[in-house]
Amino acid sequence: MAEILIRGADHILTMDDQRRELSGADILVRDGVVAALGPGLATTGETVLATGCVVTPGLVNTHHHLYQTLTRAVPGGQDALLFGWLQTLYPIWSRFGPEEMRISALTGLAELALSGCTLSSDHLYLYPNGARLDDTIDAAREIGLRFHPTRGSMSIGESAGGLPPDSLVEDEAAILDDCIRVVDTFHDAAEGAMVRVGLAPCSPFSVSRELMRDAALLARDKGVMLHTHLAENDEDIAYSQAQFGCRPGQYAEDLGWTGADVWHAHCVKLDRHEIDLFARSGTGVAHCPCSNCRLGSGIAPVRRMRDAGVKVGLGVDGSASNDSGNLVSEARQAMLLQRVANGADAMSAREALEIATRGGADVLGRPDCGRLAPGKRADIAIWDTRGVESAGSWDPAALLLAGPTRVRDLFVEGRQVVRDGHLATIDLPRVLDRQRALARALAS
Ligand SMILES: [Zn+2]
Repeated sequence: MAEILIRGADHILTMDDQRRELSGADILVRDGVVAALGPGLATTGETVLATGCVVTPGLVNTHHHLYQTLTRAVPGGQDALLFGWLQTLYPIWSRFGPEEMRISALTGLAELALSGCTLSSDHLYLYPNGARLDDTIDAAREIGLRFHPTRGSMSIGESAGGLPPDSLVEDEAAILDDCIRVVDTFHDAAEGAMVRVGLAPCSPFSVSRELMRDAALLARDKGVMLHTHLAENDEDIAYSQAQFGCRPGQYAEDLGWTGADVWHAHCVKLDRHEIDLFARSGTGVAHCPCSNCRLGSGIAPVRRMRDAGVKVGLGVDGSASNDSGNLVSEARQAMLLQRVANGADAMSAREALEIATRGGADVLGRPDCGRLAPGKRADIAIWDTRGVESAGSWDPAALLLAGPTRVRDLFVEGRQVVRDGHLATIDLPRVLDRQRALARALAS
C-alpha cells in the first residue's frame, strides 16, 4: 500500500501511553498502520495537509442499534420512558427485513464517520423477515469502517411474560446456532481486524437465564466478546430484584457475564459494590449519555467508575433513543453530564476525548486502536479548527469545549473514508433517498 503523510497539523492529540500532544507535527502512515509521528517527516506517497487542524485518533463507538436509524423521533415514542418507548417501536421493527437493516446501517455508520468515528460496535437483537447480521456487515464493508457487530437476541415474548411481541422473539436453540454461524463466518481475531463479532442477548429481561449462561459459555469457547444492556434505569433494577432476587451486577456475575471480554451498555444505576466488581474483573462499560438524558434514565457514575479503574467507552446508542448519532457531540455530552453531577472540574475536555478514543478501544479489546503511536492502526480523524465553531478558542485542542462536530477527513486502516467533509466511499445522497422511501413505507 502507498504511504500517506498527514503534514503540518497544528496539534496532534495522540492518546498514547504518555498522552503526548504534538504541535506542528506530521503522521506517516504505511500499510494501514502509523509508521512515525513528529516534525519534518517525508514521503514519496500522497500528502494530506493538516494546517489549521487538530488531529486525533478516530473515535470509538461502543454501543449502537444501527437498525433504529430508520425510526427516529417516532411520535408515539418521543416522550416515553424506556419500557413504553420499546412497546411503541416493536410493532414497527417487526416489519423490517434485509434491506431495512442494510440501509439503516449504512446511514448510521455514515453519520458516525462524519462525526469522527472509525470503529463502531453494533447490537442487533431482532431478525424479522429474513434479516441477518450479514446485512449490517455488508454495510460496514461498503463504507469502510472497522466494525464489531454483535449477534443479539430476544427469546421471551409477551405470551411468556416478556416485553417484546412474540413475532420478534426467536427460539433459543436457533439463536445459538446462528451465533456459531456468524462467528465462524465473520470473526477475525487478528490484530488490525476490520470485523469482530460478539454475542449479545438483548437484556436480562428479554432472554432466559439459560440463554445468558449458554451465550457466555459459547463466547468463551469461541474467544469472542459478550455485550448486553445492564442497570439502565430504576425500572431495570426493580425488575432484576423482583425476577431474580438480586441486583443486576450479581445476576451478571452469577451467569459468567463479568470479565475483560464483557462490556455492558448504560450501567447508570451501578452501586458501589458493582463498580468494584467491574473494576476487579476488568468488565467494560458503554456509557451513553444522550440516550440516558433522552429517556430520563439518570446520570451514570462515570467519575466514580473511572476513579475505581473501570474501563469506560462511549456509545451513541440506537438512533431511536438518542435520536442523534454524532459521536463527538456524545463525548461533549459525557463531559457536561459529569459536571452536572460532580462539579465543573469533574471531567476535562481531554479526558472525555480520551474516553471516546482510547477508552472505547480498550472496552472493545482493541489496544491496536484508539491511540496514535508507531505500530498502531492508522484510524485518524482530522478536525478543521479554522471554522466558526472554534473561532476565538485559545486552546483548539480542547475540541469538546469549542470545536467542529464534523470531521474534515477520516482515515480507517490508512484508507480515506471522509474527504473534505464528505463520504469518499459511498454515494450518501442515494442512500438517504432510499432511507426516506423505506421510512415512508414503514409509516404508511
Ligand atoms: Zn441500547
